[in-house]
Amino acid sequence: MSEPLTISFQGAARTVTGSRHLIRCGSRRVLFDCGLYQGRRDEAERINRTFDFEPGELDAAVVSHAHLDHTGNLPTLVARGYRGAVHATPATAELCGVLLPDSAFLMERDVEHVNRHRHHGEPQRTPLYSPADVDRTLERLVNHGYHDTWTLFENVRVTYLDAGHILGSAFTLIDVESEGRRLRLGMSGDVGRAGRPILRDPESASGVDVLVMECTYGDREHPAAAETVRQLGEVVERTLGRGGRVLIPAFAVGRTQELVATLHDLMSRKIVREAPIYVDSPMAWRATQAYRHHPECFDDATRRAFEERDGEPFGFDRLHYVVTVEQSRALNERRAPCIVIAASGMCEGGRILHHLQHGLPEARNTVLFVGFQAEGTLGRRLRDGMSPVNIFGEPIERRAEVVALDGFSAHADQRELLAWVAMLKPAPRAIYLVHGEPGPAEALAGRLRERFPSEVRIPRRGEEFSLWN
Ligand code: ZN
Repeated sequence: MSEPLTISFQGAARTVTGSRHLIRCGSRRVLFDCGLYQGRRDEAERINRTFDFEPGELDAAVVSHAHLDHTGNLPTLVARGYRGAVHATPATAELCGVLLPDSAFLMERDVEHVNRHRHHGEPQRTPLYSPADVDRTLERLVNHGYHDTWTLFENVRVTYLDAGHILGSAFTLIDVESEGRRLRLGMSGDVGRAGRPILRDPESASGVDVLVMECTYGDREHPAAAETVRQLGEVVERTLGRGGRVLIPAFAVGRTQELVATLHDLMSRKIVREAPIYVDSPMAWRATQAYRHHPECFDDATRRAFEERDGEPFGFDRLHYVVTVEQSRALNERRAPCIVIAASGMCEGGRILHHLQHGLPEARNTVLFVGFQAEGTLGRRLRDGMSPVNIFGEPIERRAEVVALDGFSAHADQRELLAWVAMLKPAPRAIYLVHGEPGPAEALAGRLRERFPSEVRIPRRGEEFSLWN
């Protein structure tokens, strides 16, 4: 008899947020990812504060990549008694050092705001975790490079492969041996896309028995990458040509660096005229430092540029980082055409708000959306054509052009997910779909069942399965 080997899905089950999977190998317990559940405040609080296991009894934590829906609840785990290592790629560890402190800062600010406006008799709220909890978490990070197999426990070995999703993102292989039996578990993390700038393409592996796979876009196909780049060039050239500025709300990690690389390429090929690109986000600057420190994650073209440009693949001559608030304000006084990339991606806060306040009333400008805009956000209202919109409590008339490009996703679409599974030879015996709403999960499950002999399941939160067949 082999030792029990199970997985229970504690988060990102039939939803796209709060990734958290508990793997039991005999008496050992490993938590794979510990993401923040993001949603309505009360529900998110409850989910993020509840663990169906004792954090102090966990033996290890392994994370796939630095996005907060995969790592953002690690500080809660540590605050609640977890004392083991947090395994990550070196780039993921560095990005955690950028994203987790920011997450703690935003939580403290949110709690202050809610407490200030609470009704008489309502209890004071406390943040989910503090900057000190983040420091204690970052101390626990242990780095492992891609393709470097390490021993988690005496009968469990782990290897990170490239997932092509964000800097440092990994497809994780967990090899278990017990009483002469072997099993290879593949944890997809978030699956990236082939042919994107900067990062290498998602890697494949052989002999995966059981695959746990994300399915965020399991029911959709993204527009072709070349078409998205063509549209980007057209919008930017049109705006610069009429003397306007292009305002791009973008997430500071990943999207910003990809946009900069793409715009640089368009200008070098003279598809877009020369204009300064301002990246107005201290966090984007820190994230870009992390990119500079990890050329081991780059694709060949970016690595060549890195070497030829003396370690400056993002420090192109036309690129300017805006760090201080004064520099950010001064940017609004400039009249010459330019491109401004600033956070937040959905215009819910951050410096993009100042740029919108100044830029929206002028018809020569363009607001360019390159990411998802959730219901209820300012980004969504602008995308839906609303005018005027409220910014800092004032109605602002929109005359600027608004354009939304959908092809910049860092997640594989249905076709790309199917192609990725097809590369895992032979097909996994079982596939568990996580990190997707029920619609996309069902659609992808149907397509997987048509093409592969695998048993495909869409687990519910808290469901546990034995991994041995
Ligand atoms: Zn992600």
